[in-house]
Amino acid sequence: MKTIDTILKEYYGYDTFRPGQKELIQSLMNGQDVLGIMPTGGGKSLCYQIPAICQEGTGIVISPLISLMKDQVDALQTMGVKAGYINSQLDPATYRETMDKALFGYYDLLYIAPERIASEHFLNTLGHMNINIVAVDEAHCISQWGQDFRPSYQTIPQLRDVVSAGVPFAAFTATATTLVKNDITEQLRLQSPHEFVASFDRPNLYFSVISSKQKSKDVFRYIGKEGATIIYCNTRKNVESVYNNLVKKGLPATYYHAGIPTQERNKNQDNFIYDRKPIIVATNAFGMGIDKSNVRKVIHYNMPLDMESYYQEAGRAGRDGAPAEAVLLYSGQDIITNTFLIEQGNQPHAKDKLNRMISYCKTGKCLRTYILNYFDETPNWTRCEHCSNCDGQTETMDVTVECQKILSCIYRMDQRFGTGMVTDVLRGKNNERIRQFRFEQLSTYGIMAKYTDSTIKDIISLMLSEGYLTLSGDKYPILNFTQKSNALLQAEDTLIMTRKIVEEVPHTIAEAV
Ligand code: ADP
Repeated sequence: MKTIDTILKEYYGYDTFRPGQKELIQSLMNGQDVLGIMPTGGGKSLCYQIPAICQEGTGIVISPLISLMKDQVDALQTMGVKAGYINSQLDPATYRETMDKALFGYYDLLYIAPERIASEHFLNTLGHMNINIVAVDEAHCISQWGQDFRPSYQTIPQLRDVVSAGVPFAAFTATATTLVKNDITEQLRLQSPHEFVASFDRPNLYFSVISSKQKSKDVFRYIGKEGATIIYCNTRKNVESVYNNLVKKGLPATYYHAGIPTQERNKNQDNFIYDRKPIIVATNAFGMGIDKSNVRKVIHYNMPLDMESYYQEAGRAGRDGAPAEAVLLYSGQDIITNTFLIEQGNQPHAKDKLNRMISYCKTGKCLRTYILNYFDETPNWTRCEHCSNCDGQTETMDVTVECQKILSCIYRMDQRFGTGMVTDVLRGKNNERIRQFRFEQLSTYGIMAKYTDSTIKDIISLMLSEGYLTLSGDKYPILNFTQKSNALLQAEDTLIMTRKIVEEVPHTIAEAV
């Protein structure tokens, strides 16, 4: 039997494992269940593929993305692995042939769509197979607490009853809060799983946030000369307009959004993947499961709705580990558009998430620290020296006194209002709503008249992200105290705001393109 190091080299062409991979593989080979939480591009696939390839029998992989199964299986076959897949897109003859081969133990790896598990015939077949591991990809889909709950995932535990007792289960996901993690463990009945949580840090990525009033010009400045560039826009209309601009300047670009007919869309995607057109302008419909390693730049032409989406999309840069850059161009208009979009939908925490996204654009703090803190990680640095804030000019100010004024005002308004109304009262505005509630009689009315709306809102955002305030309310977000608020009121804690000194992008290079 080949060692796992030999398989890594011979099949995948890599010399070393990434942190966590080897331990997860070894646990699985020892028959222990595992739970792996790694960011997109972190290298999850190999952790379940290698144990399946190395051992007698077949590894079952449950994956929700039917459209990607074929690509994954093709890639494995090219590497010399016997891989197959079963989903609703197979014609009856191929389905029967695949099932027969599966039964006779032909496959090293068999990918299945979770919907299949509902079929008794299918479960019976699995029961007769020699299975070495069961891997559940995107395992967070099993939890109603997660973002992409899929009812079909709840049938997966039935597999426990058809495969032999000693067969280990492996659950992998890129996003799991403690709640989701516990749910995965419980529902999949993982027995004291070996748990590995990878750092979400991507040291080879340089992050920058650029305040831009002329994005259509500024965007040229950030397009890479080497490798590939993805430019994400928030609407199909923006995709087309940016794309047309690039083409007019003679740049090798293509574009992608859900409104383009399938055939053309696939052609555009292939042109990008095979480097015939190394620049793609796209909506967030593009990228899921795309494993293109030489993306050197991911440019966001608009601010996404939340940090999860941003980090996932930005993370498509530099998957090969070589230096790459994630640039976010943002403007006040993005905040307006996103706020509007969120008000149309009725996602419970959308507004809160958007506020954290806005703070990312405005903070003067190290961007990578901000990102990692968002994902509940505490990096061992305060400045990464590898983002536009660490490189750029910032100013710091102690805002403890301002925070005390804000907290007093929220308290006097009975913790029943949102950022807009609190800001209006602090600034001493004279409008009907204020008069209706007699807020002009509060002692905090007008105590921050000298500050701009945006400074007050920035301080409130900072208090939210540092946990001195929280949002509640179903209809619109209401500012509430937290357990930490009093410490700030009593000046036991201090709060420092770091702001960037915003430099407008010079247009010389843009115009030269
Ligand atoms: P995930 O499923 O976590 O999003 P993948 O398994 O697709 O990520 O891996 C992302 C990329 O990293 C792939 O191109 C993969 O070949 C590569 N990769 C995985 N493990 C290693 C390793 N040990 N050394 C080098 N590259 C690796």
